[in-house]
Amino acid sequence: MTERIYLDWNATAPLRPEARAAMIAALDQVGNPSSVHHEGRDARRRIEQAREQVAALVGAEPRNVVFTSGGTEANMMALSPALETPDNKVGFDRLMISAVEHASVRACGGFPRHQVEEIPVTSDGVVDIGALDRRLGELQGQSVRAPLVSIMAANNETGVIQPVEAAAALVHAAGGLLHVDAVQVAGRIPFDIGRSGADLVTVSAHKLGGPHGVGALIKRSASLHFAEPLLRGGGQERGARAGTENVAGIAGFGAAAACAMASMRTEGERTRALRDRLEAALDAGPTVIFGRNAHRLPNTSLFATPGLRADTALINLDLAGFAVSSGSACSSGKVATSHVLAAMGVPDRLRVGAIRLSIGPSTAEKEIDLFLKAWIKLVAGLSKGKGGLAA
Ligand code: PLP
Repeated sequence: MTERIYLDWNATAPLRPEARAAMIAALDQVGNPSSVHHEGRDARRRIEQAREQVAALVGAEPRNVVFTSGGTEANMMALSPALETPDNKVGFDRLMISAVEHASVRACGGFPRHQVEEIPVTSDGVVDIGALDRRLGELQGQSVRAPLVSIMAANNETGVIQPVEAAAALVHAAGGLLHVDAVQVAGRIPFDIGRSGADLVTVSAHKLGGPHGVGALIKRSASLHFAEPLLRGGGQERGARAGTENVAGIAGFGAAAACAMASMRTEGERTRALRDRLEAALDAGPTVIFGRNAHRLPNTSLFATPGLRADTALINLDLAGFAVSSGSACSSGKVATSHVLAAMGVPDRLRVGAIRLSIGPSTAEKEIDLFLKAWIKLVAGLSKGKGGLAA
């Protein structure tokens, strides 16, 4: 079999050895974390240690971390019309989301479609803060309830970093709450829940070297209350999410979070250098790099070469040993073009060619160079009217 080169870290990052070790140890742990006996308390201890490690990812208080089955569930939980704060006991009847959110935010949680509106982005994929400001002002003029707003910290396709702090200031001035999907940011670049102004933050384990199927919704303040939890039953997670906890998954999440935090700076610098090496080479050809002028995650590049379709490129690259993505993982397998690029005003002829490379700390320079060689061959084949890398 061809040696594989994995360049799809925004879909899922490889499991960190420390996360695997923590999970294996937890799998051998007998006992329900809600039981009061010794075994139960041991299982509880693993969860509470992970809660501290995950809270530290975003500078939150451990008691404000609610473990979930992943980023999707955390986003669903956050977008609840029944969120309560000390100043708002009536809940929300309006949701504003940016036009480039992940599908799990675009599903709008518990809000009916007619109560949801989109905030546009600029051609670089940055949320249009002026448009958000204007719309919040119009809503206040109509004396409707303050909105719940959801803006991601960085986009999973383009890597574009969003102006969360500025958005939080506007949303709070209008009396609203801000939810931030930080799934692609947590453990990769610094993000502090207090400094950002976010009221609620979503994180996911498998994007930072933890296991699949575990994530968290993190509150800035303990006074924020989920009046209608998605899962009801036992009183786990302080009543916010019933069900016996995924002890091994949570332990793996905690260990991965601690490693990501400890090595964030060095890993970030390394991946940025590799990403820049890739883009410098792509710049020499006809390839367009999306979101190029915006602040972006250090590990992500989304690009297209006119005339080269992403589905053809993906198949050829896969056969040649490269795992890359066309936009987000959740949309791969479908032929639909990216809603993110559509919102940025990218024409269809380029959208159909968008390929995302996302890398991580163990990506080698040689792997980037091998990818570039393969890409150049694909593009050259195009001008000769041939499709694949074999050409
Ligand atoms: N939000 C963003 C920005 C993502 O990239 C993803 C996963 O692709 C999710 C949410 C969903 O997270 P999970 O896969 O843990 O459900």
